[in-house]
Amino acid sequence: MAVYGWIGLGNMGVPMTANLVAAGHTVQGYDLDPESLDQAEANGVRPMKSISEVVQGVEVVFTMLPKGEHVRSVFEDPGGILDSASTDTLLVDSSTVDLETSRWCHDQAAERGFTFVDAPVSGGVSGAAAGTLAFMIGGHNEDATRTKALVEPMAGKAFVAGGATTGIAAKLANNMMLNISLLAAAEGSQLAKELGLDAKVFWDITSASSGQSWAQQTWYPVPDIIDSSAANNNFEATFSADLANKDVNLAVEAGEAAGLNLPAAQLARSQLQHLIEEGLGGKDCSLITKYVRNDEALEGYIQRNEP
Ligand code: NAD
Repeated sequence: MAVYGWIGLGNMGVPMTANLVAAGHTVQGYDLDPESLDQAEANGVRPMKSISEVVQGVEVVFTMLPKGEHVRSVFEDPGGILDSASTDTLLVDSSTVDLETSRWCHDQAAERGFTFVDAPVSGGVSGAAAGTLAFMIGGHNEDATRTKALVEPMAGKAFVAGGATTGIAAKLANNMMLNISLLAAAEGSQLAKELGLDAKVFWDITSASSGQSWAQQTWYPVPDIIDSSAANNNFEATFSADLANKDVNLAVEAGEAAGLNLPAAQLARSQLQHLIEEGLGGKDCSLITKYVRNDEALEGYIQRNEP
C-alpha cells in the first residue's frame, strides 16, 4: 500500500481520492477551501494544513487543480512542492492545463532533480466516482509505467501517450471533441422535444443509434433521463462552463498555432463564453442548451437562481 499526497480536492479530487482510500492506500490531502477538505476527510483522506505538510513522507504527489496558473503557483511558490518535497517523490499533474504549463512543470521538475509526469483524465465526476477514468500519461517511459500502477484504483484505462506533454495534448484534443459533441446533444435534445418525442424514448433511440456520444450518454441536458445529468439539479456544475471554456480555448489556441481551422470548436467556445458573460460560468457547461431555445424556457433550469 502506498502513501499519496493530493493537492486539489474539488469536484474531481474528492471522488478520486475516495477510490484510493477504498483501495487501502493512505492519502494526505490539501485544499485551500476548508469545505472541500472536510468532504475529503469524510471519505478517509487525512487533512493537511499546507503544501509543505502534504508532501511529507509520500511516494507520489498528485495535483488536481483548476488551471495552469494554480498548478504553477502550487509548484513554484515559496513553501510549494518544489521547495518542500523530497526529490524521490514522483510528481503527477492530473489537471487540464495549457501545453506551456505542462512543459514548464517537466522542465522545472527536471532542473530541481524531480520526476514529473503529465496525467490528465477523462470521464467526468461520474467516472471519478466509479473509478473508471481514462488517464493519458506523458513522460519518460519508466515514469509513465510507474504512474500507470499508481492510478489503477481510479482508472478504467490508463494510456501511455508518449513523451513529456503528450498526455495533455491528448486531453486537449479529446475535450475539444467532447465540447463539439455536447453541442449536438444540446440541439438534438431540444429538436426531439419540439418534434413531439418523449425524451426518454428519444434518448433510448439515440443510445442505440448514430447520435450516441459520451456527452449524450453522460451529460444529456434533459432532467430525469440519466442520473449523471446536471439538468436533474438546476445545472449545478459537474463540469463548469468556466473549466470547459478553458479547455476549448486551449485547444483552439493550439490549433491556431498549428495553422488549423477549427470552426466547430470556435462555436462551442463562443457559447461557453456567452454563459460566462451572463455570470453563469460556475454553472454546468451543458447549460449551453438554453441557447437552442428562443423562448429561453429550458426544462430543468430555474432562472431565478441566476446570480
Ligand atoms: P474544481 O474547481 O471543482 O476543484 C479544484 C480544487 O482546487 C478546488 O477545491 C480549489 O479550492 C482547489 N485549489 C485551487 N487552488 C488551490 C491551491 N493553490 N492550493 C490548493 N487547492 C487549490 O475543479 P474540478 O472539476 O475538480 O477539476 C480539476 C481539474 O480537472 C481541472 O483542470 C479540470 O479541467 C479537470 N477535469 C475536470 C473534469 C470534471 O468533469 N469536473 C473532468 C476531467 C478533468
